[in-house]
Amino acid sequence: MSVVRAPRDSSAPTRVVLATHNPHKVAEFQQIVARTHPNIDVVAYDGPEPVEDGVTFAENALIKARAAAAHTGLVAVADDSGICVDVLGGAPGIFSAYWAGHKKDARANLELLLDQLSDVADPHRSAQFVTTIAMVIPDAADPREHTVQGVWPGRLATKARGEGGFGYDPVFIPDGQPHGAERSVGEFSDEEKQSQSHRARAFEALLPLLAAL
Ligand code: IMP
Repeated sequence: MSVVRAPRDSSAPTRVVLATHNPHKVAEFQQIVARTHPNIDVVAYDGPEPVEDGVTFAENALIKARAAAAHTGLVAVADDSGICVDVLGGAPGIFSAYWAGHKKDARANLELLLDQLSDVADPHRSAQFVTTIAMVIPDAADPREHTVQGVWPGRLATKARGEGGFGYDPVFIPDGQPHGAERSVGEFSDEEKQSQSHRARAFEALLPLLAAL
C-alpha cells in the first residue's frame, strides 16, 4: 500500500516552537524571523524542561529542542550558549551560568573568572562567546536534526565595564571594533550587540534551514 501525503498548504504559516523560558530570547528570535521569514510563526515553549546533561553546547541544545518537538509535535529550535576562554581550555563553556555555583549569580561568575585570570597577560586572554542552535523536525517519516554555531571572538577584560547586557558582557571585549576601540559588550547598545553577537551569527546560519521548511 502506498501512502499519499496531502500537499502542504504553502500559504499557511509554519509554526516553530522556541524551547526557552527566557522572554528576551523569544522576542529577539520573533523579530529576526518576522523580518526574514514572515511565513514562519514563532511560539514560545511552555512544557516541561528536560535535564540538560549534555557535555557540549550542541548536545544541550539538542536535548532542549528534542523535548519541545516531542511535547508539541512542532518543529523545535533551542539554543545553548556560553563564554569559552582559551587559556582555560574552553571553560567556563557549558558551565558558564553556574561557574561560581548553582545560584546562577552572574556577578559572582564574572568576578571568579577575572580572579582566575588575574595573572594572565593581555595577549593570552583570548576568549569567544559561543551559541549553538539546534533544530528538530519531528516528521514521523523523515525526522531530522540540525545544529549550527555562532562564534563572537574577543578577549577577557581585566575589570568589568559598562552596565548593558547581561552575564559576562561587562568583561568581554569583542575583536574588530571600529577605530581600534576596546569597549566591553557591557558598553554596547542593545542594537549594536544584537547585530553582531554569537546569537545573531548562529541565527544567521539557521536562516537557510528555516527557509527550507
Ligand atoms: P544560555 O545558554 O543562553 O542560557 O547561556 C548560558 C550562560 O552563558 C548565561 O547564563 C551567561 O552566563 C552566558 N552567556 C550566554 N550568552 C551571553 C551573552 O550574550 N552575554 C553574556 N553572557 C552570556
